[in-house]
Parts: sequence; structure tokens; C-alpha cells
Amino acid sequence: MHVLLVYAHPEPRSLNGSLRNFSVGRLEGAGHVVRVSDLYAMKWKASLDAGDSTARQADARFDPSLDSRRAFESGLQSRDIALEQDKLLWADALILQFPLWWFSMPAILKGWVERVYAYGFAYGVGEHSDARWGDRYGEGTLAGKRAMLVVTAGGWESHYGPRGINGPIDDVLFPIQHGILYYPGFDVLPPFVIYRTSRIDEARFSGICDALGRRLDDLWKTPPIPFRPQNAGAYEIPALTLRPDVSPEQSGFAAHIGQEATGAPVSGLP
Ligand SMILES: Cc1cc2nc3c(=O)[nH]c(=O)nc-3n(C[C@H](O)[C@H](O)[C@H](O)COP(=O)(O)OP(=O)(O)OC[C@H]3O[C@@H](n4cnc5c(N)ncnc54)[C@H](O)[C@@H]3O)c2cc1C
Repeated sequence: MHVLLVYAHPEPRSLNGSLRNFSVGRLEGAGHVVRVSDLYAMKWKASLDAGDSTARQADARFDPSLDSRRAFESGLQSRDIALEQDKLLWADALILQFPLWWFSMPAILKGWVERVYAYGFAYGVGEHSDARWGDRYGEGTLAGKRAMLVVTAGGWESHYGPRGINGPIDDVLFPIQHGILYYPGFDVLPPFVIYRTSRIDEARFSGICDALGRRLDDLWKTPPIPFRPQNAGAYEIPALTLRPDVSPEQSGFAAHIGQEATGAPVSGLP
């Protein structure tokens, strides 16, 4: 299988750097072909702007969405954007690995998403009608591929528990897992989160690698998070709210997750 690992940490000798090296070795050892987009090493341009199209009039008003669509449709995207899109199309699975910075991904990775997820590629895909609201949330260009987050966090696991001060980790990661990964079609696996990173010695690092290795071994077996598909009947169109009879007792992020999938356990951090 083909795995694309998009990695965002400025220091190769960091915990993230060690885990990236471990993951590449484990996946290649299992016979997968791995490509790494090491965003800091690539000096990835994080800002979406008029320069993302190779042919536009200098004095034209810049429209982030429409310029993106024009450049995508006419093959005039900046080369770095097109190359990352090709990698996504090549991949059977995507891993986004990053340290949690201010409750989200580092800016360089957010900029990768903003620029690579062009209009016509990751959004603005498919028909809009009374029955469908585009190919998104379970459908889209990247449907049939799997995605997983590998995230390190300074906070403790309890800080991200159901009543933890930081909010539950599933809520913190919802905009990434649902909004960025499920939206263009990925099946999203439960995240692999390493908490309390300031307290890592050789023994704990070894246990983390064991657990991460099992998750990588199971990349094609682990049941995805059962997010509800947009166009399969659970949502009213065009309001895009859940039908009143679908989990009426639920609201917020959790309401967009359907029946629990059954299968192998997916956690297992030491
Ligand atoms: C701007 C910013 C915002 C942040 N926001 C948040 C936030 O919102 N929420 C939150 O929870 N945290 C936050 N943090 C903390 C951040 O998530 C952690 O600092 C980060 O996840 C640690 O990952 P690292 O790769 O930088 O670890 P490192 O600092 O490189 O390493 C962490 C520990 O692992 C050990 N280690 C590294 N490699 C190995 C190895 N090969 N073998 C054994 N031990 C090893 C190191 O010795 C060190 O003790 C923030 C930090 C910053 C800088």
C-alpha cells in the first residue's frame, strides 16, 4: 500500500522526529511504500495568496476560492500545490503527524491544507440538488482512502478527558478529523495521541513505539470513526441539520458520529 506521511515539526531530533522515523521504518518493514512531506524541511509556503496561481493578471482582484478553482481547472496551480495533490491521489492512506500547538495543528500544516485542498479538488466537488449537497463528508475526491492523526500533546490525558479542562480530545480534534479529513472523503481512523510529552524517558518512548507500531500494522483493519455521511439520509438538505429522529438526544460534535463500529480495540497507549 502507499502511505503519505505529512509531518510538521521544525526539529528532526525532537520526539516527533523520532516517531516519524519509527513510523517510516515500521511501514516500510511491512512492505508499504512511504512518502514523507516534511513541511519544515521543504520550506513549505504556508500562506494562501495570489501567487498560488502561475498565471494571473497582476492587477486583478484576488479571490481565494475562485482563483483556486481557475488554477486547479486550468492546470495553472503553483507546482508545490500540484505535487502534494498528486501525492494525495497516489496514497492509499494519509498520516498527519504534528505537535498540538494551541489546540490545533502548527500553522505550516494548516497552510498545507489551505493551499493543497483546492476548489474542485477537496471542495466544490459534485452536484448540489435537493438530494445531495456536493460530494463531501464521506464522499469526494479522496473517498476510499484512510487517514489518521498522530499527535503529541504537552497536556495530560486527564486534561483531555470527558470533563477535562482542555475539552475532550475528540472535540479538540473534530475540526481536523471531520472538517479536514472526512470532508473530502477520507475514512478517518481514531487518532494516536501521546500526552504529557515532557515526561518521556527511554522506557516510555519504547512503549509508545510499541503502541504506535500496532496502530500502523492495523492501518487497514482498524474501523474508522463512524462519522455520518452527509448524503445518505441522516441530514435534511439544504439545511444540513440532522433529521429530528436521528439521535434526538444528541447535539454538538458527538451527534455527527453514528453507531460505534465494531472491531479491534484501537487505543493501547502505555
Ligand atoms: C507554540 C506551542 C503551543 C502549544 N500548545 C499546546 C496545546 O494547545 N496543548 C497541549 O497539550 N500542548 C501544547 N504545547 C506543547 C506541545 O504539544 C509539546 O511541546 C509537543 O507535543 C512535544 O513534542 P516535541 O516533538 O516537540 O517533543 P520534544 O520536546 O522534542 O520531546 C519531548 C520529550 O520526549 C523526549 N524524547 C524525544 N525523543 C526521544 C527519543 N527518541 N527517545 C526517548 N525520549 C525522547 C525528550 O527528551 C523530551 O523529554 C504547545 C507547545 C508550543 C511550543
